[in-house]
Amino acid sequence: CGIVGYLGHREAYPIIINGLKRLEYRGYDSAGLVIIENDDFGLVKTKGKVSDLEEKSKSLNNGAVIGVGHTRWATHGVPNDVNSHPHLSNDGNLVIVHNGIIENYDTIKTELSQKGFEFHSDTDTEVLINLIQFFKDSENLNLTDAVRYALNEVIGAYAIAVLDKSIPDEIVVGRLGSPLAIGIGENEFFIASDASPFLQFTKEAVYLDDGEMATIKLGENVDIRKIKDNLPV
Ligand code: GLU
Repeated sequence: CGIVGYLGHREAYPIIINGLKRLEYRGYDSAGLVIIENDDFGLVKTKGKVSDLEEKSKSLNNGAVIGVGHTRWATHGVPNDVNSHPHLSNDGNLVIVHNGIIENYDTIKTELSQKGFEFHSDTDTEVLINLIQFFKDSENLNLTDAVRYALNEVIGAYAIAVLDKSIPDEIVVGRLGSPLAIGIGENEFFIASDASPFLQFTKEAVYLDDGEMATIKLGENVDIRKIKDNLPV
């Protein structure tokens, strides 16, 4: 399983597809990707190989300079198209890719269901992106804080990347127990489970430590912080 992402000035799509191919050795059963263009998501996902994803992405409009891709190794929900990542929030504004396991997803899912959230997949991941939406809306938080609040509720292991379609120059990432590297180039950023997808573009990389998250925004330095015990009282 693996994560690849790009944010900068190049076409994101080929970087994501080629990156996913480099991560195939990690094993997977499904693949997917999302790009942002004109404040909208272009999302394609499928059970099967990265080559199947490539085939299915033919109609995707390829100008986008931001996007993330994912290979899934199913833990919650069978390998099928719906359970493949990326997963959208109920309001359609947020999207996530996730490697790992949310152990307490069932409790959170019940609470969110009582608040009116609906779930379309059997994954633990879809619960997390809706928890992020919940905090963003109910506490009126920016994306980074919404992710941080949500991760403070989560028991489990993860590497995640979250995008908001109204913020096409930002990716929020976090990790606990699953690896995540950030490649820093000339006014461009890469993310990946290991550095192999971006080594040809930049030699400068930051590896997130366990329990850290980062806000990656064009034109700014990568903003790394601790996830836990960092909430306002
Ligand atoms: N637990 C998630 C799922 O089953 C992510 C699995 C993975 O690490 O790829 O969808």
